[in-house]
Amino acid sequence: MNFDLILSGGQLLDGMGTPAVSADVGIIGEKIEAIGDLSQARARRVIPLQGLTVAPGFIDTHTHSEGALLHDPQHACGLRQGITTEIVGLDGMSWAPLSPPNFRLYARYLGGILGDPPPDLDMSSIAAFRAHYHRKVAVNVAYLVPHGAIRLELLGFRGLPLRGETLQAARRILRKGIEQGAVGFSTGAAYYPGYWADTRELVEMCRAVREAGGVYVNEPRVGTPCRAFGGGGITEGLEIARRSGAPVHFAHLRTTEETAGRLKELTAPIDRAKDQGVDCTMDIYPYPSGSSIAVSFLPGEMQEGGPDAILERLADPGQRDSLRDHLESRLFAPLEPVTLSCLPRNPHLEGKSLAEAALQRGDSPAQTLCDLLLEEELKVGYVNAPPAIPALREAIDRDCLQLLARPDAMACSDITPLGSAPHPRCYGAFPRFLGRLRRRHRTLSLETMVQRMTDGPARRFGMTGRGRLQPGYFADLVVFDPDTVTDTATYEDPRQFPEGIPWVVVNGQIAVEGGRCTGVLAGQAVP
Ligand SMILES: [Zn+2]
Repeated sequence: MNFDLILSGGQLLDGMGTPAVSADVGIIGEKIEAIGDLSQARARRVIPLQGLTVAPGFIDTHTHSEGALLHDPQHACGLRQGITTEIVGLDGMSWAPLSPPNFRLYARYLGGILGDPPPDLDMSSIAAFRAHYHRKVAVNVAYLVPHGAIRLELLGFRGLPLRGETLQAARRILRKGIEQGAVGFSTGAAYYPGYWADTRELVEMCRAVREAGGVYVNEPRVGTPCRAFGGGGITEGLEIARRSGAPVHFAHLRTTEETAGRLKELTAPIDRAKDQGVDCTMDIYPYPSGSSIAVSFLPGEMQEGGPDAILERLADPGQRDSLRDHLESRLFAPLEPVTLSCLPRNPHLEGKSLAEAALQRGDSPAQTLCDLLLEEELKVGYVNAPPAIPALREAIDRDCLQLLARPDAMACSDITPLGSAPHPRCYGAFPRFLGRLRRRHRTLSLETMVQRMTDGPARRFGMTGRGRLQPGYFADLVVFDPDTVTDTATYEDPRQFPEGIPWVVVNGQIAVEGGRCTGVLAGQAVP
C-alpha cells in the first residue's frame, strides 16, 4: 500500500483512554488508513517520532476564535497548542443567523471579544457561516447557534422574554441551524440581548434542541437572578435540561478565589441531577481567573436599544452618574482587579490594570471604564487578575484537575485572542493541562487526560469520525513530548507559544512542522 504520510515509531494514544502503544500511523488523503507496523510500507513522506507521543488532535469545546480565524486563518495560538477542532458560537454570542443590518449591529456590540469582521459577510444562515471557514482556515470549526443572535433577529435589543409566536419563530430558527450543521445551542452568563430571557423561554428553546438532536451549552447565569429559576447558575441550567429533556453541557466550570478547594459544592447538584437522569457534561480551562468584554458590566436598562443607545447613555452626564454608582456598588466585577486586554484606540493601555489606567487619567476606575467604553465604541476586553496568594492559585489548579478527572468533563481554552494582552489561556490551555499540571500533581494519567481532549468531546458533540486514532477516522493528530510539553504563556506575558508540540496534522495535512506553522489551511466545517 502507498501512503501519503507515515508517522513512524511514536507512542500512540487512541483517544479512548487506552494506555499508549508503540505503532506507526499511515495516512492516505484526509483519513487514517492503517495503524500498526508499517516499516515495510511505502509512503511519500515518513516522519520518525521515537520518544514522542501521538494523539488525536485536540477538540476545544469552547473558543471565541470566529473573528480571529477570519483575520488570521493560520491561527497559530490554537494550532500550536495541538488544537485541531474548535467549537465557536459560545456564550450566546456570535454572528449567525443574522440579517446584514443585524450582523453589523451585533458585530459592533461584540467587537471587544470577536473583533471586526468584514462588514459584507453573509451571516444569514448557519450554512453561510460554515462556508466562511470550510477549507479556508487551519483548524476544523464547529458552531453552536447563539441565543443572542436569534433574539436580536426577532426582538432587537429589548428587555423582554420571548413568548407566543415570536418564541415559536425562535425555535424554528434554532432547529434549522442544527439541521444545517450546528452542534447545539449556547447561552451566556451575562451577555445581552440573551440575558433578558427567562427560564421558561430557555426551556422552550431547549425542547427544540432536543428535537433536533443538539447539545445545550450553558454558561451559568450570574447577577440579576429575577428571571432565572433558582436564581440562575448551575441550578437554572439543570432545571432547563430537566424540563426540556435536552442534554446540557456547562461552560468552563471552575472554582474561584472564594470557593477554592470546595469543588464538591459545585458538582453536588450536578451529580444529584445526573442520578435523576439528566444528561450533563462540562468543560474546564486550567486558570484561576477569566476574561470577557466590559460592555457586559452595564446593567440591563443601559443595554436597551443596543450599541447606539448605549453610547448615547454613556455620553449623558446624568445617566453617567447613576451608572458610576451602579458600577461602584456592584458585588462582583468590575472594580475588582481587571487588566485591560483589548483597546484598539488606546493600545498603550493594553496590559495595564483598570486602576493604573484610572490613575494615569486622574479619575476613578468606574469613570475611566465609562470613558473607555465611549472612546472605543464598546470594544473593550479585559482579563480578571489571578488571585495574589500562590496557595489559592495552587488550590484552584488542583480543583481543575479534579474536575477534569470526571468522565463527563472535557478540556477547553476559551480562546479570546484580541489585543496585545489577552488571557494566557489563548496560547497555553491545553499544554498547561497536559504538561505543567499533569506532571506537577500526578493525579491524572496521560491517556485519561487526552481522552478528555479528544474522544470525549467528539462523542458529546456528534463529531463522527474524529477524536480517535483509528483506521477510517480523519487524520487530525498532534505529536508531543510528554516529558517536556508545557505552556509558557503567563498573565504578565501571555502571547507565548507552548513548547514540546512539534507536529500537528489536520485532515491529513501537516499544519505544524518542527514547531512551525506551515501555512496549510486544511480545516473543515464539522461535523
Ligand atoms: Zn467564553
